[in-house]
Amino acid sequence: MSEPSITSHAPDRADDLRSRLDGLVDRVNTATANAGRAPGSVKLLPVTKFFPASDVEILYDLGRREFGESREQEASGKVAELTASGRDGIEWHMIGRLQRNKARSVAKWAHTVHSVDSERLANALDRGASEARAVGERTAPLRVLLQVSLDADPTRGGVAPDEMLALADLVEKVESLTLAGLMAIPPLDTTPEAAFAKLAKLHASLLSQHADATELSAGMSGDLEIAVAHGSTCVRVGTALMGGRPITSP
Ligand SMILES: *Cc1c(COP(=O)(O)O)cnc(C)c1O
Repeated sequence: MSEPSITSHAPDRADDLRSRLDGLVDRVNTATANAGRAPGSVKLLPVTKFFPASDVEILYDLGRREFGESREQEASGKVAELTASGRDGIEWHMIGRLQRNKARSVAKWAHTVHSVDSERLANALDRGASEARAVGERTAPLRVLLQVSLDADPTRGGVAPDEMLALADLVEKVESLTLAGLMAIPPLDTTPEAAFAKLAKLHASLLSQHADATELSAGMSGDLEIAVAHGSTCVRVGTALMGGRPITSP
């Protein structure tokens, strides 16, 4: 790993992020213990969307190596900035809704995509990842989580539960994707408890056919304890770490 370049961040922001990160690590550890689960079995994924690359640099310098982003253009800009600053070894997660025409770009930088919800999108990502591998832009296959819909609202994204297993079979079959697990965003009209309980059942059903699909991406700033109680292995945390969205965000 090369030496990170010296960047002078506003010291207040660095202190702020450090104390929030410490608090969140404690929160995740407590939730894990309270759920009777093994220490370290839940990953904290910082979500840095809407925040500048300088914040990602601070978090990197605090030891984080995985980040979640939700918009292709914003993410690829930050990937370039972090690379230019000499901070390597980062695993970038695409967690937001993804248009098929962005699949090719995402396949260049993403380690994992959490939001695959259709065969067309899976095929586009597979083509993109295969192209990226052919020209040496990536080596590993693209890890994919299926985003499952816990209600009938098509605007939130997610594959319908009764189409989940067919989509999983397709992802397993294609060359440059690997099926890593399941993701969901709880609907607004149910309790998180009910939503995550339903998600846990769907994950068990996926695991019965695809034993390696062990990842369960569930839980955000407001509901991560409930998600961890229902088997989450990855909590995606934005606001509780980064603070409110900056006014300069596009
Ligand atoms: C923004 C976002 C998050 C983080 O949500 P917070 O409530 O800010 O922690 C998690 N998952 C997805 C898919 C997101 O888009």
